[in-house]
Amino acid sequence: MAAGHVETAPSMGQVEFNGYLIEQMISEHELHVITQRLADEIYRDFKGKDLLLIGILKGANLFLGDLARELGRGNAEIGRPPMPVELDFLQVSSYEQETSTHNVRKHIDISTEIKDRNVLLVEDILDTGHTLTWIKEQLKDREPKSLSVCVMLDKPERREVFLKPEYTGKIIPNKFVIGSGLDFNQQFRNLPYVGVVIGPSQSRTVAV
Ligand code: 5GP
Ligand code: MG
Repeated sequence: MAAGHVETAPSMGQVEFNGYLIEQMISEHELHVITQRLADEIYRDFKGKDLLLIGILKGANLFLGDLARELGRGNAEIGRPPMPVELDFLQVSSYEQETSTHNVRKHIDISTEIKDRNVLLVEDILDTGHTLTWIKEQLKDREPKSLSVCVMLDKPERREVFLKPEYTGKIIPNKFVIGSGLDFNQQFRNLPYVGVVIGPSQSRTVAV
C-alpha cells in the first residue's frame, strides 16, 4: 500500500473498490457457474446450427466475452463439445444514472446481416424490459430465422413490459447492482463480481 494511505478493513462480504465499499452479491465463482450453465442450455438448443451472439454495449461486453468463451471451451463434464458462434455488438442507451428513462436510443448498429440467421441477444440485466423490447422490435424487421434473449441478471419485480428471456443467469432482488459490466456513472464495470454500492469507504489519503 502507498505511504500515507490509511485504510479501514471492510467487513465480511464487503470489498473496497475505487474508494467505495461494495457488498458482494454474486461472486466470481458463482458467475462462472451461471455462465457455464447458460452455455450448456444454449448448446442444447443450437447444437449444429448457425448462431450469432449480439452483445448490447456497454454493459454486456464482459458477460458476452465470458459466455462466448464457455461456448468455445465446451464442457467435458457433460460431454458438451466446443460450439462456434459469431459475435456482433450494438449500443443503446436508456438509462440516466439510476433511473430508466424508457427513451431508448441506438448509438451503434450491428454490422452483420441477420436475415435467416439464428440471433441471440446478450444483455447484462433485464429491468423494466423497455430496452430489450425496443431492440427486439428493431431486429425483427430484419427477418432473422430466430431471435432469442440471454440475460446475465433479471429483476422481474421491476418489469413494466412483458418479456421473458429464453436464458436467464440469475434472478435478483430489486437493487441497483454494479460490476461484471454493470456501471454506475461509467464506474465499476471491471469489478469481477456483482455487488451493491454501500457508500464511500473509510479509506483516505492523509498528508505526510
Ligand atoms: P430496462 O430497459 O430493462 O429497464 O433496462 C435495462 C438496462 O438498464 C440495462 O441494460 C442496464 O444498462 C440498466 N440497468 C437496469 N438495472 C440496472 C442495475 O441494477 N444496475 C446497473 N448498473 N444498470 C442497470
Ligand atoms: Mg445495458
